[in-house]
Amino acid sequence: MFKAIRILILLVILATVAGTALYNRWQSQSWHRTQVVMLYPINAAGDGATEDYLQRLDAKAFADLEPYFRQQAARYHLGLDQPIRVVLGGRVQATPPAVPRDRGVASAIFWSLRMRWWAWRQTPPSSPIPDVKLFLMYHPPNYSGPLPHSIGLEKGRLGLVHLFASKAQQGPNQVVIAHETLHTFGASDKYDPYTLQPIAPDGYADPYQSPLLPQDRAELMAGRVPTKPAASRIPNGMKETVIGSMTASEIGWSKSR
Ligand SMILES: [Zn+2]
Repeated sequence: MFKAIRILILLVILATVAGTALYNRWQSQSWHRTQVVMLYPINAAGDGATEDYLQRLDAKAFADLEPYFRQQAARYHLGLDQPIRVVLGGRVQATPPAVPRDRGVASAIFWSLRMRWWAWRQTPPSSPIPDVKLFLMYHPPNYSGPLPHSIGLEKGRLGLVHLFASKAQQGPNQVVIAHETLHTFGASDKYDPYTLQPIAPDGYADPYQSPLLPQDRAELMAGRVPTKPAASRIPNGMKETVIGSMTASEIGWSKSR
């Protein structure tokens, strides 16, 4: 009798988990209403220059994002005028769990669970209720070396985004935010993880232009503008990026998959 009850409880838990996962996927790709992406700034190292920047940070620093998603969605005839609303939320003082250095699957899953738990505890209350939560880790403008790798998770619908606390970097910062946002809707990377070079054709904004190189724009999920064989540059802002057809299909904007 007890065994039967135990099995029944386990089955209910499994069905709930599977149901929640299916519901989340439907919610993130059905585009039946505008999705709210809430941004939570964090001073990554706690330095004064970043603090000054964050004190003055307002919605203008993210103003290119909503029109961009609106315009790109129209290209795919989405039928929803405003697919994404970007809202600047409250500051978060705690720092998120460190990303594991190794690329193992087990440590990635463990980190993702810790990150979801951390986000659930640290997210400040806000209105509207967010569909996607992005934690923006700001680093000082004179940060040496490349920034840590940003991450967007479809499961949990959250992201950890590393940015420069600099007005001059607001263009490239928005590209990183848009890229991680689309990961939370199920888009995959379209660059080689070892060389960071965009992979043709899906990682190219204009995969059928001739000659193929140099390109003028980046495919958003490739993140870079291919200029020469094995060379590319960071786009200056949203105007230099485009959402390619494979990415549009992955996030449910087109039915070509
Ligand atoms: Zn990515």
